[in-house]
Amino acid sequence: MDCLFCKIVSGEIPSNKVYEDEMIYAFHDINPMAPVHILIIPKEHIASSMNDVTGENSACIARIFEKIPHIAALAGLAGGYRVICNCGPDADQTVLHIHFHLLGGKKLSATLG
Ligand code: AMP
Ligand code: ZN
Repeated sequence: MDCLFCKIVSGEIPSNKVYEDEMIYAFHDINPMAPVHILIIPKEHIASSMNDVTGENSACIARIFEKIPHIAALAGLAGGYRVICNCGPDADQTVLHIHFHLLGGKKLSATLG
């Protein structure tokens, strides 16, 4: 499958890693929207978007949420952070490998959309 984030997980495309375990991978976004902007993804291409999450494949999504506080702490986000998952064209999802944006490092805008 020709997937940018699968290529990042395999190392074919380089990335700036923040955290990894056997299920998930976190790396700095190439075009940061905040002082800290990290992407957190399942290593396996289990879902293109939130619409594909099922009871059978959601263990790595649970792992992502279990590890977000740890990843935020690694990134020094003591003041808090925001997690965003874009799903589909109205949300401007550009990479069809499910991912969560972890944003912080400043007081973020109160406007979400
Ligand atoms: P989304 O718009 O929610 O699909 O988010 C995709 C994100 O992937 C964007 O924030 C991009 O800046 C980011 N991105 C695209 N290519 C790379 C890359 N090679 N390394 C890191 N982040 C990337
Ligand atoms: Zn993929």
